[in-house]
Amino acid sequence: MQHIIDRFISYVTVDTESDPNSESTPSTKKQWDLANKLVEELKQIGLEEVTIDENAYIMATLPSNVDFEVPTIGFVSHFDTSPDFSGANVKPQIVKDYDGKDIVLNKELNIVLSPAYFDDLLQYKGQTIITTDGTTLLGADDKAGITEIVSAMEHLIKNPDIKHGRIRIGFTPDEEIGRGAHKFDVAKFNADWAYTMDGSQIGELEYENFNAAGVKLTFNGKSVHPGYAKGKMINSVLLANKFISKLPQKEVPEKTTGYEGFFHVNHITGSIEATEVQMIIRDHSMKKFKKRKKFIKSLAKKFNKKYAEKFGSDIVQCTIDDQYYNMREKVEPVMHIVDIAEKAMKELNIKPLIKAIRGGTDGSQLSYMGLPCPNIFAGGHNFHGKYEYVPVESMVKATEVIVKIAEITAERAKNGKI
Ligand SMILES: [Zn+2]
Repeated sequence: MQHIIDRFISYVTVDTESDPNSESTPSTKKQWDLANKLVEELKQIGLEEVTIDENAYIMATLPSNVDFEVPTIGFVSHFDTSPDFSGANVKPQIVKDYDGKDIVLNKELNIVLSPAYFDDLLQYKGQTIITTDGTTLLGADDKAGITEIVSAMEHLIKNPDIKHGRIRIGFTPDEEIGRGAHKFDVAKFNADWAYTMDGSQIGELEYENFNAAGVKLTFNGKSVHPGYAKGKMINSVLLANKFISKLPQKEVPEKTTGYEGFFHVNHITGSIEATEVQMIIRDHSMKKFKKRKKFIKSLAKKFNKKYAEKFGSDIVQCTIDDQYYNMREKVEPVMHIVDIAEKAMKELNIKPLIKAIRGGTDGSQLSYMGLPCPNIFAGGHNFHGKYEYVPVESMVKATEVIVKIAEITAERAKNGKI
């Protein structure tokens, strides 16, 4: 266990925060610091074909140790951390034999990680929990995933009696800014399927996620002196407000759960002359997703029709860009890849928690790029903030799940079941 703790700490203490405002890949130069370190470590533990490309995407191979054909499986994680909270000077704290009470993260700043608020903590009573010092995020998202993959590969190398096929591993930059999969060379990776180790609590196994689109609406107005505005002024701020009020009031993130989709207005800037509204659309169902996009378009059309005479041209411009799609469509035809992960967990006495992600993962993009890629727990909680923590026992279990998946895949291949 100490080995996993040491490895994890060696990763989280390297700042790898990504930056959505940067065009380059990786989006921040500092991501190279950990990327280069990882490359050295992968070579040192004995992996083969260790490569890093000009965008800092890392790949490596553990060759098969059997003489029959086994599909090549992959494991993928990201080494950047979220720009939502500082990832510099992470000072992990280790709480051994957690007693189920408040954990003081920072006495001076009075920052406390309390099970009264974060009740998930209670399931880890008696375990070793790694937390922050209250001033940064931890980076378990997704350095826990990297720790687990590297540790599992090391375990397989040291225990050649465990039979497995060819395994590929891939570490990416910039997942947190939505670009982790963008420059991932699926052909070079050359696996039949893969798993992202990027979920949260122990047991999570996910192969469904949202279909996602971003909407930009620009409302045009006409500014006239308010004292002389009657019949002349068109206030784009009020137009935008009217538009938003026509959206289904209950279909918003704060009122939906499970498979319920939503419209989420997340940014407005404007004055009388022009107001810009940004919104995201999310839905697991492709049919409903399309319907939602259509609804926005037809609403914009109605506005334009209504104001056509008064304004002379379109009063609202609407652009909708698809962001990612539900991987279910790509995973369902190869459902055995989920079954294998589920079986691996059950054999290790882990209760699989199979649920639809209310978001996206790199795996959803990779699935559409030809690499079906469900998501497995990495163990951490409260990502992207100072309350982030990870139980070491969950990281150990995730490591075992990786090993077990490799084992089951080889077994099934041997028996002609894949
Ligand atoms: Zn992540």
